[in-house]
Amino acid sequence: MRAALGFALDFGLPPLCPACRGLVGNDGGLCAACGAQLSFIAPPFCERLGTPFGYDPGPGVLSTEAITHPPAFARARAAVRYDDIASALVHALKYGDRLDLAPTMGRWMARAGRELTDDADALVPVPLHWRRLWTRRFNQAAALARVVAKSSGVPVLDDALKRMRATPQQVGLKRAERATNVQGAFQVPDERSAAVAGRRLVLIDDVLTSGADACARPLLRAGAARVDVLVFARVVDPLRAPI
Ligand SMILES: [Zn+2]
Repeated sequence: MRAALGFALDFGLPPLCPACRGLVGNDGGLCAACGAQLSFIAPPFCERLGTPFGYDPGPGVLSTEAITHPPAFARARAAVRYDDIASALVHALKYGDRLDLAPTMGRWMARAGRELTDDADALVPVPLHWRRLWTRRFNQAAALARVVAKSSGVPVLDDALKRMRATPQQVGLKRAERATNVQGAFQVPDERSAAVAGRRLVLIDDVLTSGADACARPLLRAGAARVDVLVFARVVDPLRAPI
């Protein structure tokens, strides 16, 4: 009886839009109205951070942010701006058992990150601490990485990073606090150093946070030739301009 009910819940009802709870049809993802509001990131943007510019300053121009606070990673790219709609997708995937959203989100990421994956050797999903993995049951970064791998042909390198301790929530912390919060949070396990050394890697996560830098550093220390970052969503300051 319970199994039958579960089956009906899993397969009998059309999925709801994670942003407005409206009906979507059978293919999952957002309803048409919410989908139209999603804000895709397109050039021109900062070559390093991938943050969009208000006008085109020409190729290879960096944002003020990239120059004043250069990240450990080489380049970051994101599919969409982090807003209410993007946040609803991220939360539904992360906490709402909406694994059916991963293929669409991952395909958008693959498109945004083509420049990075074109000559990359492997994708590295940002790991969850094991306790979080237990409560959430799955790693959303790993789920997205599998879709990007399928789309780009770049394989996933599993277990290249180990989360040493659970990091408290990053939201609401200032830059310096966030950096301290994640410092030393990730390591390359000894048995994976050989798989990392000399390779061009793309870190995969759902949202760009200071965790990207905390992951890039140990990979570079282990001899990675390059570390780029590809995420589904990133916060974009509307006032950002090239210098
Ligand atoms: Zn909707």
